[in-house]
Amino acid sequence: MPTELCFGEKTLAGFGGKISLLGENALIVTGKMSAIKSGAQEELLEILGKADIKHSIFNKISENPTIDMVMQGVDVFGENDCDFVIGVGGGSPIDAAKAISAIKANKLNKDDIYCSEKIKRSYPIVAIPTTSGTGSEVTPYSVVIFENRKAGFGSPFMFPKISFIDPRYTRSLDNRITRDTAIDALSHLLEGIYSVKRNKIIYPLIYKGVSLIYSSLIKTIDEPQNLVLRGNLMQASLYGGIVIAQTGTTLQHSIGYPLTVEFGTSHGLANGIVMKEIMELYCKDKIIANEIKNLFNYLKIKQDDFYNWLNKFNMKMENRLSDAFIKAKSQEILKSRNMQATPGSVSLDDIESILKRI
Ligand code: NAP
Ligand code: FE
Repeated sequence: MPTELCFGEKTLAGFGGKISLLGENALIVTGKMSAIKSGAQEELLEILGKADIKHSIFNKISENPTIDMVMQGVDVFGENDCDFVIGVGGGSPIDAAKAISAIKANKLNKDDIYCSEKIKRSYPIVAIPTTSGTGSEVTPYSVVIFENRKAGFGSPFMFPKISFIDPRYTRSLDNRITRDTAIDALSHLLEGIYSVKRNKIIYPLIYKGVSLIYSSLIKTIDEPQNLVLRGNLMQASLYGGIVIAQTGTTLQHSIGYPLTVEFGTSHGLANGIVMKEIMELYCKDKIIANEIKNLFNYLKIKQDDFYNWLNKFNMKMENRLSDAFIKAKSQEILKSRNMQATPGSVSLDDIESILKRI
């Protein structure tokens, strides 16, 4: 995991000068409001001013970025002669910044978006997260919608060079986004155990990360300004990102993508809605069942306690899924690249039956 991490309160003020090693003219990629609301943009501009780094701001990235938004960013990068990108915001602007950098550096067309093997270089990427969920600040992945399909792609060249992770930037999150993003991080951590690429070396991060979310999420919703709690969630999200950078994500992730595209269900919520179903499905595999038992022993809880805790967040699908949708999307999900890391022998029937139940 080659990203240099600067973690903690006011880390940008302390270490932001490092950005000047990466380039002279930055494209700052953000959403509409989050970079401003979180306070990150103002602090970044101050650092860039001090280091005499030119910048342009591209603030047209909305939730779940599409390829067209990304290509617009590629044009702005070129028009302004930028030589590196800074993604500021949730996973959406950070993923878009990574995609802009990779597409521009490799002269790719939009149809190449999922051809990870065509990515042989990138412009330097800086990430400043304002949510604690995706871990995109430490992964080589980007998730972009192309022709109504949401999928991830990635390359070792897409790891950010430096990430500035400051829990203060997440204090402006409302309770819904706090919940959804933390549940996304929880998915990543669990998927580190589920994935066929599981690796005991990263188990300490998984165990600690799950424990931080389990003990801090409800309290954070009650005390959104508490920086210790916000720091716990940020740390867990960072661990989740480091984990999936090694193991990839599984069906737990790709089953939610069509729900996001079709119904606008947020990424984290989509993960949460299927979390119990997926755990039950994977636990049919004896190895996974044992791994999960070990995790809950560490947490000193039973699997049912975990399910009861999940139920408290009331994560339910609000739309009815039609039979035609379930049939078409189950095929798409079965072909998703996340299936490569999915354990056991998951069938089309398994996927259809989860979609029917939710
Ligand atoms: P997001 O889509 O970046 O943002 C969700 C909402 O939160 C937006 O309305 C955003 O506002 C707002 N927001 C963000 N930070 C805020 C703050 N500090 N204060 C107030 N509002 C704030 O959310 P996300 O869950 O972090 O990212 C989800 C995306 O990441 C999905 O596309 C998902 O597939 C992807 N993802 C990527 C990876 C990876 O490894 N690369 C892993 C998991 C998920 P603005 O619109 O103003 O920005
Ligand atoms: Fe995710």
